[in-house]
Amino acid sequence: MPSAHHVGSPSPAQAAYSTTPGRSRNMAAIRRTDTKPEIVLRRALHARGKRYRKDFPIRTGGKLIRPDIAFTRLRIAVFVDGCFWHSCPKHGQRPKNNTEYWSPKLARNVERDRLQTALLQDAGWTVIRFWEHESTDDMVSVVVRTIRMAEKRGR
Ligand SMILES: [Zn+2]
Repeated sequence: MPSAHHVGSPSPAQAAYSTTPGRSRNMAAIRRTDTKPEIVLRRALHARGKRYRKDFPIRTGGKLIRPDIAFTRLRIAVFVDGCFWHSCPKHGQRPKNNTEYWSPKLARNVERDRLQTALLQDAGWTVIRFWEHESTDDMVSVVVRTIRMAEKRGR
C-alpha cells in the first residue's frame, strides 16, 4: 500500500470550498502533508542542535542532486525516500492498475536513486538513505553517529 502522504489528500482549494464538518477533516489532512517524514527528521535534528541545509543543490557528474538534508562542511547527504515512489521492499507494492505506466516510472526512480548515491559518493559525500517508514529516533541516531564519525575524521 502506498504510504499516507502519497495518497491524495485534498488540495487547499478543495478544502476552502468545503463546509463543516468535512472542513476540519480536510484541514487535518492538509496539516498531515506538512509533516512529511523528512520534515519531522529535520525538526528532530534541529532540536539536537544540528544545522543543515535543506534541498541543497549539488552539481556532480552532470546532474543536479538535492538531498533532503545536507551537512555541507562534513559532506553528508541524507535522503528520506518515500516507500511507494522509491519501491521500499516492505511497502513499495506496484499498483495493479496501469502497470505499463507505473512499472517503468518506479523503476526509473530506483535507478535514479542508485545513480545519485553513486555520483555523490564519487564526489566524496557520505550518503544516508532512509525509508520514510523508519522511526525518527532511529534516523536521528544514524545521522548523529555519522556526523560524529565525520568530525572525528577531521573533515
Ligand atoms: Zn516502507
